[in-house]
Amino acid sequence: MAHVINPDTCTSCGVCAEACPVEAISEGTDSYVIDADACTDCGTCVEECPTESISEAA
Ligand code: SF4
Ligand code: SF4
Repeated sequence: MAHVINPDTCTSCGVCAEACPVEAISEGTDSYVIDADACTDCGTCVEECPTESISEAA
């Protein structure tokens, strides 16, 4: 499990990367991306994203 970012709606604002307590989010090619191995599923980024682009992976 981990959280994932929808590249279609992510605006690469960077808010989530600053909010993540374990620094699991970084800037990718088309959008910001979450390192599944580092993500602890805390949910902080979900609340911080202004475009609601982050959700829990199925
Ligand atoms: S759910 Fe928590 S640990 Fe995972 S990417 Fe978001 S802020 Fe970071
Ligand atoms: S906060 Fe949302 S829109 Fe901004 S970089 Fe993160 S996923 Fe993309």
